[in-house]
Amino acid sequence: MPTKIPLVNLAAQHEALAVEIHAAIDSVIARNDFILGDEVAAFEAEFAAYCGARHCIGVGNGLDALTLSMKGLGIGPGDEVITAANTFAATALAILQTGAIPVLVDHDPETCTLDPRKLSAAITSRTRAIVPVHLYGHPADMNAISAIAVEHNLLVIEDAAQAHGARYRGRRCGTLGRAAAFSFYPGKNLGAMGDAGAIVTDDDDLAQWLRAARNYGSTVKYRHVVRGLNSRLDTLQAAVLRVKLRHLEEWNQARRGVARRYQELLGSCAAALPTARAEVEPVYHLYVIRCPHRDAVLAQLQQQGIGAGIHYPLPIHRQAAFGRGCMIPQPLTVTETFADQLLSLPIGPYMPDEHVQEVALALLAALHSEVADRTSPPHAASVPDGTARM
Ligand SMILES: *Cc1c(COP(=O)(O)O)cnc(C)c1O
Repeated sequence: MPTKIPLVNLAAQHEALAVEIHAAIDSVIARNDFILGDEVAAFEAEFAAYCGARHCIGVGNGLDALTLSMKGLGIGPGDEVITAANTFAATALAILQTGAIPVLVDHDPETCTLDPRKLSAAITSRTRAIVPVHLYGHPADMNAISAIAVEHNLLVIEDAAQAHGARYRGRRCGTLGRAAAFSFYPGKNLGAMGDAGAIVTDDDDLAQWLRAARNYGSTVKYRHVVRGLNSRLDTLQAAVLRVKLRHLEEWNQARRGVARRYQELLGSCAAALPTARAEVEPVYHLYVIRCPHRDAVLAQLQQQGIGAGIHYPLPIHRQAAFGRGCMIPQPLTVTETFADQLLSLPIGPYMPDEHVQEVALALLAALHSEVADRTSPPHAASVPDGTARM
């Protein structure tokens, strides 16, 4: 069955803003101002102000935002950088790209973010930084993490790619460490119409280095002061992002509304629903539940045209390309358990309540049939010849 209710509904968002977005793109084309033009500078100023930070430096994507912020802070070969094992590949890849080694730690079962209680055991004399990920749009436990960072003289660099606009004790994600990396991949809470990313920081020296590093190491044409790369925020994307930024607050509010409805409709079901700590204002980039018989439930939802997903099916240390390049100081028991249970339900600012209800009903039915199935007499175990039927 084709997807009726998509996991991420970009079409609804773009339909709502079509006129504004076309006008913004047309004006860039009219000016032929394609590389680091006025729109990039304007977006950087507006996003920095939105976050409450001194600087925003636009770059090509979220992966580069992470890599460059770490390189700009001097992280490189011989260093260890601690992050969570349950995150998108980019967090670990960025650490590896600096030449440092990712050190993977479990997450807190309640918030799905880096567990500060497990940090100290991962710190060695080579540890340089901690990269908390505000996963699914819920801020990490930053006070506890920062206290450990101060004690051990470590940098804190936020992976804020899923947390545009989220708040921790009143402050926006992106202003809770030395620097923060954002992605504007289309499906993010603030998404471009292509690849885009940014670093947000209060550090003047880092900001200056980043402005050069993203542009061949140069701020004055043909004068290269840093061995940089070409990772500029595309000007057309900046124009699109400026339009969308004006809607981010109302979109995040709408996402919280969908989360509330899921809570009302699913409150007493067999799955564990996401919770928000009292000190945070999450932005529900994803609505991730923990679900018994996950794969069977997911298959049932997909059969009914509901675009549920898994974030993430394979934790970092199980990835073929770089899992072995990571260090695992302690068993990742929470990560391992969660990997088989996580299930993301559709969520978005334009999701109508009928869709929320439909997803909730389908989930309740799937849970019911799966749980009933597994608790009925265990035929497989009692097959006389001993061959289990699976
Ligand atoms: C999306 C994402 C990134 C990477 O962003 P790209 O723009 O796709 O490179 C990094 N970290 C997390 C947690 C993400 O969700």
